[in-house]
Amino acid sequence: MVTTHNLGFPRIGAQRELKFALESYWKNQSSRDELKAVGARLRERHWKEQAHLDLVPAGDFAFYDQVLDMSFTLGNLPARVRDFHGDALDNYFRVARGRSAGSAEEHAACCGGVAAGEMTKWFDTNYHYIVPEFDAATQFRLDTSRLVEQLGEARALGVNAKPVIIGPVTYLWLGKAKDDSDKLALLPRLLPVYAALLDHFAALGIEWVQIDEPALVTELDTPWRDAFVTAYEALSARRVRLLLATYFGPLQENLDLASKLPVDGLHIDAINARNEAAAAASMLPDTSVLSVGAINGRNIWKTDLNAALDWLEPLHASLGDRLWISPSCSLLHTPVDLASEDKLDAEIKSWLAFALQKLDELSVLARALNEGRAAVADALALNSAAIESRRTSARVHNPAVKAAIANIDAALGQRASAYELRAVKQAAMLDLPAYPTTTIGSFPQTDEIRQARSRFRKGELDAVAYKAAMEREITRAVKEQEALGLDVLVHGEAERNDMVEYFGEQLDGYAFSQFGWVQSYGSRCVKPPILFGDISRPKAMTVEWTRYAQAQTNKPMKGMLTGPVTILNWSFVRDDQPRSVSCLQLALAIREEVLDLEKAGVRVIQIDEAALREGLPLRRSQWNDYLRWAVESFRITANGVQDETQIHTHMCYSEFNDIIASIADMDADVITIETSRSDMELLDAFDDFDYPNQIGPGVYDIHSPNIPSEAHIVDLMKKAAQRIPGERLWVNPDCGLKTRQWDEVIPALRNMVAAAHALRASA
Ligand code: GLN
Ligand code: ZN
Repeated sequence: MVTTHNLGFPRIGAQRELKFALESYWKNQSSRDELKAVGARLRERHWKEQAHLDLVPAGDFAFYDQVLDMSFTLGNLPARVRDFHGDALDNYFRVARGRSAGSAEEHAACCGGVAAGEMTKWFDTNYHYIVPEFDAATQFRLDTSRLVEQLGEARALGVNAKPVIIGPVTYLWLGKAKDDSDKLALLPRLLPVYAALLDHFAALGIEWVQIDEPALVTELDTPWRDAFVTAYEALSARRVRLLLATYFGPLQENLDLASKLPVDGLHIDAINARNEAAAAASMLPDTSVLSVGAINGRNIWKTDLNAALDWLEPLHASLGDRLWISPSCSLLHTPVDLASEDKLDAEIKSWLAFALQKLDELSVLARALNEGRAAVADALALNSAAIESRRTSARVHNPAVKAAIANIDAALGQRASAYELRAVKQAAMLDLPAYPTTTIGSFPQTDEIRQARSRFRKGELDAVAYKAAMEREITRAVKEQEALGLDVLVHGEAERNDMVEYFGEQLDGYAFSQFGWVQSYGSRCVKPPILFGDISRPKAMTVEWTRYAQAQTNKPMKGMLTGPVTILNWSFVRDDQPRSVSCLQLALAIREEVLDLEKAGVRVIQIDEAALREGLPLRRSQWNDYLRWAVESFRITANGVQDETQIHTHMCYSEFNDIIASIADMDADVITIETSRSDMELLDAFDDFDYPNQIGPGVYDIHSPNIPSEAHIVDLMKKAAQRIPGERLWVNPDCGLKTRQWDEVIPALRNMVAAAHALRASA
């Protein structure tokens, strides 16, 4: 019999119950007991929903983040939150977000204002974890309370729980040594704590423990590879069985290492490493189980069950009971339940599977393996009808788009002239002062804006009234910018709720869910649009708003678009064609918008690529391939314009050092980046690399309510001018201003404009 299991379940709740409970607790509107009760109810519901599996995960629930949970289990709290008032949960939220609930912070004088832990992306997903902090003196101390509590709940429900923990090597790999000491030197101190934890599980009568080591899918140098051997040999005296879980990619050169570790089972991500399943099966000792992730844990598509059975059946024949099946990774990265999507087009809906549906697929696969396909003939027939309908649907396949992709040639991505020549023509056309000032696009999203948008969506506001409301906002933004004396203006993006959704909604080939929320970090969720078909643009998307804005002023108005790579990286994308092809389709669609803006007389066009960097593959050996098609997509989008049209791009969190050549290759006339917090340190990349075009290093940290002073901005710009010639510098904030208030933005921009005047005077 094949064993079914799950690596992790989305914890936020089908209706985002955890999000609302957390936010209400933080705002003091509910008690700690109420928050804990919501957590317990969600765990109970999720276990019941998974009860048809042979083994269900426990300990995958977290109030904020599973890595932070592990830090608490290992007793690795930053020194700055030790000895605080309140209970462990308060300290947990202090590390997570700098503060706990209002009521727990009455000791603000002694414990208020803790620096939150740093947050970073969980491998190549859009989930963010709290980075464990280490230094040479870090000690660990086991705290089993959370896991014991959750295992007790699971047992009371009668489900067969498999605790999920992050393995010791990946735990160190994920963290950061604050004193630059060697993290790996902590391994000998860490291992006894893991050994004690496993003993504790054994004492509780646990049979299997899932120990996650996704670091194994990355390129590891010898000390890290050796650490795996040391770690798992040290844990070999355990009395529980270990399933070593890897996911998000193939193991490649680490497959041999992983299959020889002294554990009792290996999980591999057979979505990303199908061909490693058979190899692993032959390499594992015949006492070990092989778990294959046969269902994609990161997308929203139905699995082709017959195709999966085609490769699972031979594996089952050779492994017998030693074969386990599951989703490829934790289902944390998918929405919970498709059933609640009653507005989704029925045909598109029939192609989709969210977390619960994926687990149903798993049960069908298991029955087919155990009893033969005939036992689930109906389910398989339904599945293959859905797969076939998607494969052949005219809504997915648009011959005109495919033809356009086939006709792409290098000239599409090539500006007519080199930057130096364009720069001269653009300068003549735009007539800008030195150190020109601009903003990144959005202005504050006021309550009136949000209300108008939501009333329009609900049909309470008709199109004419909505348009008038947005035009009022545009006029206001233009007037404010003129009063401030900015040089290149923006329309303010009032009509956009989200920089990807706004374009997705207007492109053919996109669908939207109502409840397809996925946790991004803590209580923050995103609802990625679903790119299901060939992408085309039925009509212009931004031209009318931009034209209206331009008519309100004599200053140049910057057209504002989201680039293809960012749209791709923030969507659920197709699994039936390479990401690069979807990206090129988006590029052609946004290119049409660029050309329409140009035709409408817009002389400056910004194409945001906020998410370019985060699309980098886990393995460096694949970076070049990604960067090649990402840059090509941007170039196709941007570079069809005349020399006189100035192309800007914008990138958030820009650590450029390792990709600066690709950024330059995009050949945007101007790039704006986020640099203010790092005190221009991020510009280090420009020391060794002579960036050829213009740059606007951010001088206003828009994540903070603080108003930067004129002197501070001048100071930052002078630092920038040490690396980039002053005549190629722009003065602008770090990013869009949508999350700020007007009364913060106006004084900040006033100082920014004054700083630019001072720089011009001293130049
Ligand atoms: N133009 C967008 C804005 O200003 C850019 C946002 C971003 O890069 N994240 O809101
Ligand atoms: Zn940004």
